[in-house]
Amino acid sequence: MSAYVFEPRPVAVVPVEGESRGFPVRRILCVGRNYAAHRREMGGDDRDPPFFFAKPADAVVPPGQDPAYPPRTENLHYEMELVVALKGGGSDVPTEEALDLVYGYAVGVDLTRRDLQTASREKGQPWDSAKGFDDSAPISAIRRWDGPPPQGRIRLSVNGEVKQDASVADMIWNVPEIVSEASKLWRLEAGDLIFTGTPERVGALKRGDRVEGEVEGVGRVAFQVV
Ligand code: MN
Repeated sequence: MSAYVFEPRPVAVVPVEGESRGFPVRRILCVGRNYAAHRREMGGDDRDPPFFFAKPADAVVPPGQDPAYPPRTENLHYEMELVVALKGGGSDVPTEEALDLVYGYAVGVDLTRRDLQTASREKGQPWDSAKGFDDSAPISAIRRWDGPPPQGRIRLSVNGEVKQDASVADMIWNVPEIVSEASKLWRLEAGDLIFTGTPERVGALKRGDRVEGEVEGVGRVAFQVV
């Protein structure tokens, strides 16, 4: 007899380049306002440090699948981001040890119901409905990675037109700092994904739009909003 009153859903999985076995997703943490120019376009103060929010693990949309345009929004935004995939965990991890926890990197889009986010901010309410909805985290395959984190260009285009074009080297918190800061707030574990924030020039998507994003040397994400 099963231990459960019904069969649990299988865990969300992201493919790994060159591997037949997938990366099982435990949690998705996201960094907000980690690029100065994006912080400014969102009306943020230059002294405000980045911060975290979360998405459910099953928000990932793996390569080859298309996210559905979500209900209850008229302003769905793209946010192109570098994603850190962890193979180990811990609490209060020093920055000097943070890269030891990194399995590899992917690229992902932090889809955002901007109208709900703005309303939440004005009312002092949580961001969950703005950020943590179904299909809100399209992602590429994960590339295994040793050594210094990626430093290349980060780009996103919609229907072939370039919308975002910046460098992941411009992040306010770098990857070791992000992992270390997150580990002060949560016990990190293997399987955790961390979206590291988006550069400037976020914008709206509509049904049928084709989105392509890349971080040089890491990978490409491509999907259609359906
Ligand atoms: Mn974001």
